[in-house]
Amino acid sequence: MRCLIVTPPMIQLNTPYPATAYLCGFLRQHAAGLQLQVTQADASIELFLRLFSAPLITRMAGELRRRARSAGRAQVPVAIAHFLEHADRYAQTVEPAIRFLQRRDPSLALRIVGRAFLPEGPRFAQITEEALHEAFGTLGTTEQARYLASLYVDDLADVWRIGIDPRFELARYGERLAASAASFDPLQTALDAEPTLVDEALDELTAEMLAAQKPDVVAISAPFPGNVYGAFRMARHIRAALPHATLVLGGGWVNTELRALREPRVFDYFDYVTLDDGERPLLNLLKRLRDGATPLVRTYLRRDKQVVFEHDATQHDIPQRDTGIPTYDGLPLNRYVSVLEMLNPMHRFWSDGRWNKITLAHGCYWKKCTFCDVSLDYIGRYDKPGTDVVMSRIRALIEETGETGFHLVDEAAPPAGMRALAQQLVSEKLAITWWGNIRFEKSFNPELCALLARAGCVAVSGGLEVASDRLLKLMKKGVTVEQVARVTRAFTDAGIMVHAYLMYGFPTETVQDTVDALERVRQLFAAGCIQSAYWHRFAATAHSPIGLDPQAYGITLRPPANITFAHNDVAFDDPTGTDHDFLGQGLRKALYNYMHGVGLDVDVREWFEPQVVAQRAGAKRRRSGSRRLAAANAVPATTVPPTTVPPTTVPPTTVPHDLIERCLA
Ligand code: SF4
Repeated sequence: MRCLIVTPPMIQLNTPYPATAYLCGFLRQHAAGLQLQVTQADASIELFLRLFSAPLITRMAGELRRRARSAGRAQVPVAIAHFLEHADRYAQTVEPAIRFLQRRDPSLALRIVGRAFLPEGPRFAQITEEALHEAFGTLGTTEQARYLASLYVDDLADVWRIGIDPRFELARYGERLAASAASFDPLQTALDAEPTLVDEALDELTAEMLAAQKPDVVAISAPFPGNVYGAFRMARHIRAALPHATLVLGGGWVNTELRALREPRVFDYFDYVTLDDGERPLLNLLKRLRDGATPLVRTYLRRDKQVVFEHDATQHDIPQRDTGIPTYDGLPLNRYVSVLEMLNPMHRFWSDGRWNKITLAHGCYWKKCTFCDVSLDYIGRYDKPGTDVVMSRIRALIEETGETGFHLVDEAAPPAGMRALAQQLVSEKLAITWWGNIRFEKSFNPELCALLARAGCVAVSGGLEVASDRLLKLMKKGVTVEQVARVTRAFTDAGIMVHAYLMYGFPTETVQDTVDALERVRQLFAAGCIQSAYWHRFAATAHSPIGLDPQAYGITLRPPANITFAHNDVAFDDPTGTDHDFLGQGLRKALYNYMHGVGLDVDVREWFEPQVVAQRAGAKRRRSGSRRLAAANAVPATTVPPTTVPPTTVPPTTVPHDLIERCLA
């Protein structure tokens, strides 16, 4: 039996998503007993490379020209008009530019920084020669060229999205069709519609994949909503081309959103849908396909036109010690594309570099945060494989890939596990570079941070969420602002960069809470405790403590829709009445500037008043040349849309101006 495990489009471009590598490594342990051949494919990078190739760029230009002729020139968006004017140059340069971003043609950097090689569309409007020089100096040619080539890729992605298929983005495809989609109808309608050029490219590469692999079983793992449309589109093509193949759907999105699946039409595309860790359900399913008798574990199927769920509760999940060694065998490791879209040294970790992915543990050892899906298996079931197993996986992955960069993709890596790993790396003198997600625990003291740095840790990310002790307590985060200040300082003093996940819109959060949280974040940047951050808007999810007990947090959930398909975010009313849409604009603008070292001495209220921000940003530019690029990149000051709720008055912060300094004293 041949089993093909697939990542559907679209997801990160710089490195494979790890699910197929883990499942492939696990199933190969059982290959002999099941007479099984297991292979894997990444349709996401394959679709990207196909769309960003000379033949597809030429096809896109042809289609856009036809449309422009019938629409009339005045109707053509700026990005499309620019592309059509330079379409031949785009077709000539796209493959060299992608090869350069794959690090396969470094000498091209010198031509790219000359600024006459790549056509430059609207995304380049934000940069100036002088600003580039300030950011990269005279010797940073390669980095500068990667930044320019990344803007070029962004321009082309805009053309694909605006001109051909509005669902297409570099890291997601058709996301809205699946995210918390109570009904299957929109996805079905999209799948039945006239295919776009992106759809056609995906169909073509699916056909080639099938011809090369000839699978009996295809297991598609959809980690996020942005992979679901691609998963179903591929499944439809596979169904038509290989009617006897068995199709299975699993992955992070399924585990989170399909827990109440009642939609029989899903099984027009897939024979089985599995929940939670895929190892046990997939192993049992493959045995069942062979012997017809093995019980299924956490698996939906359709019987008599109804969705049924089969689960043999006597079977346990595979312990983390026994899931084997992940393998990237079969994936095109030298064809992943590193992009550098933002001039922030920490932010680039997510899009730049080919990281091997490992975990120190399954689930989260804390599992208390009230906004988090702690009732689900991927958070709630904590299982450590042990440092010896982690080390053997690290050694094996270095051996297989030749790469020594590792991303710890734990929900929150345990400090004790990190210490043990660091001690082992140091004692074995194994030189690797790694980063990962943590909680800002007080056990990360200067001594531990120094050890982690010595062992190759270069960056950490962690949740500060709403930087307010009242709200941190309500969310049971288990940290305080003072603790976060001390821990992040310990990391940065050790030379480890820090990214903070921030949140706004939490139940009962007032305008004052938000302004004060921004002031604390400002001070953390100014004190050099954090180098990068991102604001997430709070969402009440069905499987979080807040979603399960909203009254305890002062909110009311709106009556649920008739859910037959996906279920995750739940609409709610918060009587506090804060206009989080308005505040979110200012928060993002402030953060963007802070990450470029701009505006750190500006009163935080000014980010919420667009015109004033523009003047102050200009003032900073005049005072400090080194900050020009960031100010040029800043989110435009006029993007705040009209709002239907009463205007928000932004009060001054109540936070002492030296709060973080005092925490660190
Ligand atoms: S938010 Fe992070 S630390 Fe909190 S329970 Fe979830 S995974 Fe654990």
